[in-house]
Amino acid sequence: MRGILAKGMFAVALSLTLGLFSGATPTPDLSKTLHIYFVDVEGGQSTLFVTPDGKSLLIDTGWPGNDGRDANRIAAAAKDAGIKKIDFVLITHYHDDHVGGVPQLAAKIPVGTFIDHGELRETNNDDAKRVFSAYQQVLATGKYKHITAKPGEVLPITGMQVRVVTADGEVIERPLPGGGKQNASCENAPKPPVDTTENPRSLGTLITFGKLRILDLGDLTGDKEMDLMCPVNKIGTVDIYVVSHHGSQPSGTPVLVHAIAPRVAIMDNGAKKGGSPQAWDVIEKSPRLENLWQLHYSEAGGSEHNVAEPFLANLQGPDTGNYLKITAAPDGSFEVFNSRTRETKKYAAR
Ligand SMILES: [Zn+2]
Repeated sequence: MRGILAKGMFAVALSLTLGLFSGATPTPDLSKTLHIYFVDVEGGQSTLFVTPDGKSLLIDTGWPGNDGRDANRIAAAAKDAGIKKIDFVLITHYHDDHVGGVPQLAAKIPVGTFIDHGELRETNNDDAKRVFSAYQQVLATGKYKHITAKPGEVLPITGMQVRVVTADGEVIERPLPGGGKQNASCENAPKPPVDTTENPRSLGTLITFGKLRILDLGDLTGDKEMDLMCPVNKIGTVDIYVVSHHGSQPSGTPVLVHAIAPRVAIMDNGAKKGGSPQAWDVIEKSPRLENLWQLHYSEAGGSEHNVAEPFLANLQGPDTGNYLKITAAPDGSFEVFNSRTRETKKYAAR
């Protein structure tokens, strides 16, 4: 067939005609995969999703400053994925490690639509006011579409389903398909303190690609985890959990983590940010966990609370910005690639 096709356009046209009318069953294309880049922004968040048809969603933009370090790393991931534009940039909340990188990113790569939870709520925080204002200036250029998302809404990206589960301190009212079971972890769970920062306002999403389910709640705190997960688990189980708040307390309580029971957790911690021993322990004790992966060795974790080296994208020492990448198929199978080791670990469909 290859030889015939190489003979020119006429042969190609003939082959296409035969294909259309031969009545043969199409073979499923196994290259139709979702790609997720966990960009190393040194303890902030920046996660790039690229669908099989090249549509893209970036969750958060990392930090401001550092000579455009985070925008450069995001642009490198976009280049690796073969995209020249980011269709949707979702800002979970207005802290500098999430929204701070917006101006540098917008200067570096075309963006279609920004999505966020609405107004800044932590108005007594000068850092938050500064990064929110810089973000508003980017929106005010009029170059971008803008969506203020509410819990329950499905975002208009194609090729995967992105459903908002938390936003601006509110959570979905009713369980999603796959959710609705009593959550045993709620019994005797201590009531977490009410958090008044931007963290509990985080715009959280459940992303579904075929049978694969991925949960990303930004820096959502324990008080809102309880609203979302007690007394019934409104989410159900997931395959991949983007570890909330970089593995910092008071996020990632058993009420959330042990009920969503991820197969794989990816922690976007920095050397000195997130990666707390308490949050790490909760993940490692999660009932269905196969592996936790970390973007960095955590200094707070020390020898007892870090994963083995093959599961670390960045070891101790000078930072080289290594990333983790998931490639997922609609049947629920996926693999995790570590750009430092160049090794890939496969997870079969369940
Ligand atoms: Zn954060």
